[in-house]
Amino acid sequence: MSPTETPEDAAALVLFSGGQDSTTCLAWALDRFARVETLGFDYGQRHAVELACRTTILEQMRAHFPNWGARLGADHLLDLRTLGAVSHTAMTETVAIETMANGLPNTFVPGRNLLFFTFAAALGHRRGLHALVGGMCETDYSGYPDCRDATLRALETAINLGTLGQFTLQTPLMWLDKARIWALADELGGPALTEIIIDHSHTCYLGERGKRWEWGYGCGSCPACMLRANGWQGWTAMRT
Ligand code: ZN
Repeated sequence: MSPTETPEDAAALVLFSGGQDSTTCLAWALDRFARVETLGFDYGQRHAVELACRTTILEQMRAHFPNWGARLGADHLLDLRTLGAVSHTAMTETVAIETMANGLPNTFVPGRNLLFFTFAAALGHRRGLHALVGGMCETDYSGYPDCRDATLRALETAINLGTLGQFTLQTPLMWLDKARIWALADELGGPALTEIIIDHSHTCYLGERGKRWEWGYGCGSCPACMLRANGWQGWTAMRT
């Protein structure tokens, strides 16, 4: 962020997948920045449902939060199917989700967040968006090394060296657990935002949209659903 910019007039680009975390990040950015644009990637995810959720969530945000809607600018979707082509993972192929010999789940797409932020910087440079916001989280993460704060701090340095830019990589969820991410959404947008996240954000690795739980749609048993459900229970406990 340059010295002449204040957080209020700075502009942000949010990595927005249509999941719970990135939807919460989008609300966080809309609460802070005068101008916010969103960026999604099509990298051959097994389930196009996640990409469809993005559009619905943006519509719902505009409908329920006019102040945020006034700040919400263009949505960008980049074709990164090359990433799916070079990585064999359970995110992009029809294989069972399991833990690999190195301890990482086979949903791991190597270096995905490095690429996502690098593309975000390229787009942000062109559009004057210097706060790059992502929902990476080290607390409840699945062991993905590209979600770690140390990884992203190093990437921020590399991006700024490589672009002569003044980007900040902002990760408001980094030190929150899933219960506190539900709580943050409630702080930012109250029940209306929580309802949007429950009904329209998508987390389930299996792409299940038929079954609705109190925390939203999903199979209820894949690692992503379990994290989301456990977080909901934790947040319920926090309120009682
Ligand atoms: Zn699931």
